[in-house]
Amino acid sequence: MRKLVSIIIPAYNEAENVRHIFDKIKVVFDTLPYNWEVIFIDDGSKDETINTVMALSKENNNVYFLEFSKNFGHQLAVKAGLDNAYGDCVVSLDCDAQHPPEIIPDMLVKWEEGYDIVYTIREEDKRLSKAKRSTSNLFYKLVNSLSDIELEAGTADFRLLDRKVVNVFRNFHETEPFLRGLIKWLGFKQHGIHYSPAERFAGSSKYSVKKMIHLALHGVTSFSIKPLYTAVYLGLSMSLLSLLYIPYVIYAFYSHIEVSGWASTIMTIVFFGGLQLIMLGIIGIYVGKMFMQTKNRPNYIIRSTNLKDQS
Ligand code: UDP
Ligand code: MG
Repeated sequence: MRKLVSIIIPAYNEAENVRHIFDKIKVVFDTLPYNWEVIFIDDGSKDETINTVMALSKENNNVYFLEFSKNFGHQLAVKAGLDNAYGDCVVSLDCDAQHPPEIIPDMLVKWEEGYDIVYTIREEDKRLSKAKRSTSNLFYKLVNSLSDIELEAGTADFRLLDRKVVNVFRNFHETEPFLRGLIKWLGFKQHGIHYSPAERFAGSSKYSVKKMIHLALHGVTSFSIKPLYTAVYLGLSMSLLSLLYIPYVIYAFYSHIEVSGWASTIMTIVFFGGLQLIMLGIIGIYVGKMFMQTKNRPNYIIRSTNLKDQS
């Protein structure tokens, strides 16, 4: 009996890419001794993505789809794929062909060697804009320094998970899962493969700088409470520093030195005002997360699917 490999592909406005990525995967699997299936997760696309996928699934009996009721975001799309894939292993990759399916045979070799998680590390892409590259590097630095996990720069959501890892993952019900970190945190036997990213086949990136900053803040705050400690330490050191100022104030009082401190007063107020807002914001993020989690809403809603055990 051949093993089944499920490939899950989140797609948001990727109509032009659907057939292209499927054809690439097909070429790869034509030479491999595995059964395979592709599950597209349409993340509330506004273009023809779902119709293209439906047409493709009529032509090929190993193509499935999950259509979200609206845009829930890339991470939840991957999560939905994991929750619904039944392969002996599950490979997730992007729809835009930036994650080359040609790497899959290498991943499968490592999997057969006994690794439970085969993740990929993207080599720096010189064609990407400087802004994208530096925000991406900053992202990993920030996440690593502010949380308790070590992410290698360039780990994307392109990975192979063994069935037992997927089963563990199904019990995770975080409202906004941060998959890269969660996977690292899980443990198991992990192996990283390097690859150089291809250019996006069609369309444009759905991750703006704003979304990247959000992902970074989210990544840090979903993994540790270190930022809260940072707030305390920063507050402490500021208070200690301000103690140094007291002797000067007393000296100035007794020696009747004219205090013409408008500029410095305003500076101090603005600086500490900003600092306090940042710290309040950090606390707010944690409170917000608790709020979202306590509501216990479903993390994503499926509008339609052709998978058998779904209605
Ligand atoms: N994506 C998604 N929902 C979103 C944004 C993106 O499902 O809200 C998908 C997108 O279709 C693609 C993958 O996530 O398959 C990665 O997105 P993108 O290529 O835009 O990100 P980048 O490669 O620029 O980081
Ligand atoms: Mg991309």
